[in-house]
Amino acid sequence: MTAMPAAGHVNPSAPLIGELVERGVDVAYYATEEFRPLVERLGAEFCAYPERTISSGVIAEATRDGGPPKVAQRLFESTRLVVPFLQAELRDRPPGAVMFDSNALWGRIVATSLGLPAISLMTTMRIGASELRALSARESLPLIRETFAALPGLLQARRRLRRDVGAGLLPPSPILPAQGDLTIFPLPEWMQPDSDRNDPTCHYVGPSIATDTRTEEADSPLRELLRRNEPLVVVSLGTLHSGGEDFFRSCVEAFAALPATVLLVVGRRTDPPAPESLPPNVAVRSVVPQLEVLQHAAVFVTHGGMNSVLEALQLGVPMVIIPQQVEQLCIGAAVADRGAAIVLRHHLHGRKIGAEELRTTVRALLSRKSYRAGAKALEQSLHTGGGAAAAADQIERLLPGAAPSAD
Ligand code: UDP
Repeated sequence: MTAMPAAGHVNPSAPLIGELVERGVDVAYYATEEFRPLVERLGAEFCAYPERTISSGVIAEATRDGGPPKVAQRLFESTRLVVPFLQAELRDRPPGAVMFDSNALWGRIVATSLGLPAISLMTTMRIGASELRALSARESLPLIRETFAALPGLLQARRRLRRDVGAGLLPPSPILPAQGDLTIFPLPEWMQPDSDRNDPTCHYVGPSIATDTRTEEADSPLRELLRRNEPLVVVSLGTLHSGGEDFFRSCVEAFAALPATVLLVVGRRTDPPAPESLPPNVAVRSVVPQLEVLQHAAVFVTHGGMNSVLEALQLGVPMVIIPQQVEQLCIGAAVADRGAAIVLRHHLHGRKIGAEELRTTVRALLSRKSYRAGAKALEQSLHTGGGAAAAADQIERLLPGAAPSAD
């Protein structure tokens, strides 16, 4: 397994890796030291990417500095560095197959170069032309600006990659997110807008939710807060976005008068609001064990990251979705259309959300039962794909010694 070393990409791989290990498959898992504890708890062999090739810090910085186009540039640059390393590693001990995160292009290229089956774990939604066309002019503008700003670097990184690894090893366009000989989508099919582009190599197995990601030390005050006898509102913009200082300050103002406990999870890259500004019902953390916290939540205010949304749905928690990127808007729209969320598009327009609007929206979710009912109804739809076991069945068919497939 060659991971994209970021929580939103590593976490959904965990149940599948655990399932494969349990079935007796030897898994070597390439990631960064940050994820060693999780990988080792799963029973896989942890292998480190070389220093300074790729890290969650690099991905977060690119997300902040230039959005998805900049991230793509960084991924091309990392691919150029990681491919020779992986080729050398795997040539000496060729695996039965290479699984790769759909953004970890290096895994796909190495599989092709060594003639091994390539399995994509599609942890990112595919965005097509129709999703981009659905954006308002105001929403398209930042994306167009980001694309133009990143274009010279992006093209140069792609040219260098093509030169160093050879054009024949690059997957067909769109290169990112990359599909494989088999592509596992750890999400329900209704969430992928262009699922008509699927072919028989695509399998929607439904969410693959890690129950043991243990990111934090024991936090007793947090546990006490979770036990409070009033509704809990959890607010997070995920692990990669930074610069949410203004937003979290608005949250403090918006939620001071709310009859609820509010937990602001600001992330490691955003400065928390000043402690003296916090009313008694509002607490702040940089990171929390999100799945545990969501078990107590009445409402989740989220950026709409794929994992966060699926985790909330699995627990029947309705959401206010505040997308920071187009992909998150698509995810938000799919959930809102099914009655489990309200989407606020302000950040895509580069606008602030006023405290009053934020409070009114959260109040609506707290008071109207239909949103929770909508989330619970979707929860039912998450398990029909068979989850990690169905994914492992597909993977085992590709491994050496497997019986030939009937289809
Ligand atoms: N997460 C967590 N604690 C936090 C913030 C996030 O455990 O304080 C986990 C969350 O449960 C999810 C992942 O990190 O599994 C974030 O992935 P997502 O796709 O939602 O967003 P991203 O961070 O990739 O934008």
